[in-house]
Amino acid sequence: MAVPVAQAWTVATYVLKQKLKGRKRYPLVLMLEPLFRCNLACAGCGKIQYPAHILKAELTPEECFRAVEECGTPMVSIPGGEPLLHPRMPEIVQGLVDRKKYVYMCTNALLLKEKLHLFKPSKYLSFSVHVDGEREHHDFGVCREGGYDIAMEGVRAAVAAGFRVTTNTTLFDGADPHSVRRHFDQLMDAGVDSMMVSPGYTYDKAPDQKHFLGRARSRRLFRALLSNRKKRWQFNASPMFLEFLMGKRELTCTPWGMPTFSIFGWQKPCYLLQDGYADTFQELMDEVEWSNYGTESGNPRCANCMVHSGYEASGVNYTFGSLKGFVATAKAFFNWQYKDDDAAKLLNDWQPTSHGPLVQIGTPVISKASAIENHDTTAVVGS
Ligand code: SF4
Repeated sequence: MAVPVAQAWTVATYVLKQKLKGRKRYPLVLMLEPLFRCNLACAGCGKIQYPAHILKAELTPEECFRAVEECGTPMVSIPGGEPLLHPRMPEIVQGLVDRKKYVYMCTNALLLKEKLHLFKPSKYLSFSVHVDGEREHHDFGVCREGGYDIAMEGVRAAVAAGFRVTTNTTLFDGADPHSVRRHFDQLMDAGVDSMMVSPGYTYDKAPDQKHFLGRARSRRLFRALLSNRKKRWQFNASPMFLEFLMGKRELTCTPWGMPTFSIFGWQKPCYLLQDGYADTFQELMDEVEWSNYGTESGNPRCANCMVHSGYEASGVNYTFGSLKGFVATAKAFFNWQYKDDDAAKLLNDWQPTSHGPLVQIGTPVISKASAIENHDTTAVVGS
């Protein structure tokens, strides 16, 4: 099953409690960024372009636990940077598991195989491995030849060791739905529990600005991709969010649904934009002028955004917000295949576009000691 029953029950009761309390805005998943350092430098990433002293900084386990307790979400996603470069990550993960939080530790899996022994399998822990597509596509996206093979080796090792493994695929312009559908098969063959898929966001700091999808193109791509689904594909996303991507439903962004905490504090207003920071979660909720964000606000930075961190919580909120939402979600479970002849034709007629040669980009400058400690032979080493 895409999301285990115990987790689905925890989330459903949490959301219903928020509704009963009359909370209009509530967080669902904490995006905990304990560091920005990474051992890759993906062309579409907007998180690693900081100066060296920021890339060296890390949250302590105590700061991570305080953030989780402050916002009270039942789920915690740990993106970055690459969380496995944090020397105290096993302690952070165990502390969250002990608090009965459902943890998704996002990783590019370059270090997963060698660090697996530092973690214990638990129903509360999933490794969410970043794999952007088939071998050539993934290596292009992460600007690293061989990145796909190492990531898939990490996936298989984690599955064999009894961990729950999910994947995280970000699609950019030029993505070929035939190839992504083959990629889904390969991930399920490798034994992953479920897959998450989302369009990328146009980070203004990202080195590659040409390959971000606009809304109309996103919908076209996701309709071709997610219609006429295979039964074996399991998705780690709410059915309403997937329908939104396919253009079957409108959702408005809930930027507070996945609040972000990092070394800078609580990021305003969402995981993607940086319009300042708040010292406390309450301050974040009180100070942000939420009507200035989301596609309907007219904010140009939100115009093309359809990302998981902005709209997954919207999908969950829609499901539990009304009888209509609940019925729509129930229908989605029965209509899991999304049979659609026009979408099949769209897929058949799809013309793949070439993304050009792979460009290997230097990884961010980190300390020599840290690079040696993490067996990171790719790092651009600074003092
Ligand atoms: S639409 Fe996207 S960029 Fe804008 S607030 Fe929502 S998640 Fe952030």
